[in-house]
Amino acid sequence: MAETFVVVGGDAAGMSAASKAKRENPEMEVVVFEKGEWVSYGACGLPYYVKGDFDDIEEITAVPKEKFIEERNIDLRTHHEVTGIDPDDSTVTVETPEETFEQSYDSLLIATGATAIVPPFDGVELEDIYTIHDPPSGEAIREAVDRSGPSAPETVGIVGGGYIGIEMAEAFRERGLDVHVFEMLEHVLDPFGSMVGEVVEEELRDNDVNVHLGTRVEGFDGDDRVQAVRTEDETIPVDMVVVGVGVDPNAALAEEAGIEIGETGAIAVDEFGETSADDVYAAGDCAEAEHVVSGAPDHVPLALTANRAGRAVGQTVTGDPTPTGPIAGTAVVKAFDLEAGRTGIIDEERAREAGLDPVSVTITSSSRAHYYPGGSAIEIEMVADADTERVIGAAMVGEEGVTNRVDTVTTALYAEMDVQQVEYLDLSYAPPFGPTWDPVLTAAKVLN
Ligand code: FAD
Repeated sequence: MAETFVVVGGDAAGMSAASKAKRENPEMEVVVFEKGEWVSYGACGLPYYVKGDFDDIEEITAVPKEKFIEERNIDLRTHHEVTGIDPDDSTVTVETPEETFEQSYDSLLIATGATAIVPPFDGVELEDIYTIHDPPSGEAIREAVDRSGPSAPETVGIVGGGYIGIEMAEAFRERGLDVHVFEMLEHVLDPFGSMVGEVVEEELRDNDVNVHLGTRVEGFDGDDRVQAVRTEDETIPVDMVVVGVGVDPNAALAEEAGIEIGETGAIAVDEFGETSADDVYAAGDCAEAEHVVSGAPDHVPLALTANRAGRAVGQTVTGDPTPTGPIAGTAVVKAFDLEAGRTGIIDEERAREAGLDPVSVTITSSSRAHYYPGGSAIEIEMVADADTERVIGAAMVGEEGVTNRVDTVTTALYAEMDVQQVEYLDLSYAPPFGPTWDPVLTAAKVLN
């Protein structure tokens, strides 16, 4: 009898795994249970849908449901929620609106993603308070922004200055709303470090975003609909709110099945994505991954990590053990006319926790040769370990050319290069694309 591979969750990690397993072994029975309606969607596109960069939300779908079923022969079932896992019996319990049944598996992937955190703010149950995490939530926010007449929102409060908060600030400004961003910490974009945070804050203010730093939101006021955000110091009138304060991995299903949860709160896995239960794997936002610099388990919920780990698990379950690969926490974000990026470990405390002795430099260079028209400043913070001189991370910000430079440093992290090796990389040069010494090389040169 054909082996059965069961997948819980039908988005990035789950559908990558299902597709890869079926491609590697067409005889394998691959069953995907997705509790919602949507599969294989890119939540990353939602801020741009709200902004109005495109109007048909279906466009965020990477592969349509029918294609998985009809062309890839995957038994994909939406509105099927897995409510229990029995690793001793190798079965899962599945609930649909009509029935509850058991499904047996030879191998199982938990790809349940993460849930937007909503702190127990006073008044959080009021209308027009949203999180943005899946297509229906994106549609709800856009519908609110599209409203006309007396209920049309004019002012929005964004709780959280992480990358989703920044992307939403840009989207709402584009839609003509007054925007207030409330950030509890001293700077926005905390994982990018304070240098990037400060530059992005200036960009936000230049675009008339009200940035409230070091400001803890205490609650919301209103009768039915939200009418104000209450902080420690003031009450600011708003017509709608988006809460973007991070995500919690959806690890409860695994935890209830006795599967080990890591210190990060996500599901602990080995290098192949296998959990503490035999033949049970976890990938994507619900799972930990090994950090390429520290070697320690980490939880950085991003799309490529989910796709990549899912694909590797899909290959492993067909009998070809494939490591999911380490992560560097590489991330980029657009903030109006700026690009900001980060990779590896840039936070001093985190570096010390990983047993490293961090030294860093921050340089300002240019995105093009100084005489070539249209260039702009690019700032790079590069961090190395003082003992080994290995480059361990970087953060950067500028109007252009940030993403490729972040990726250059990411490659150096994976190759375990030291500052001198980075300094002597033969990077491309022509006046429209950068100075002769690329800003990455300059940062390494100064750090060396
Ligand atoms: P998810 O996409 O969360 O999918 C999990 C699926 O499992 C869901 O469909 C859920 O319904 C289903 N499920 C959960 N529990 C069950 C159950 N018990 N039974 C059945 N089904 C279940 N990442 C980037 O790298 N770059 C970006 O620019 C970026 N932008 C983003 C913008 C926004 C607004 C958001 C919300 C996320 C963004 N991300 C970005 C993160 C990226 O979308 C996620 O990392 C990625 O979607 C994770 O994929 P996943 O498959 O692990 O989880």
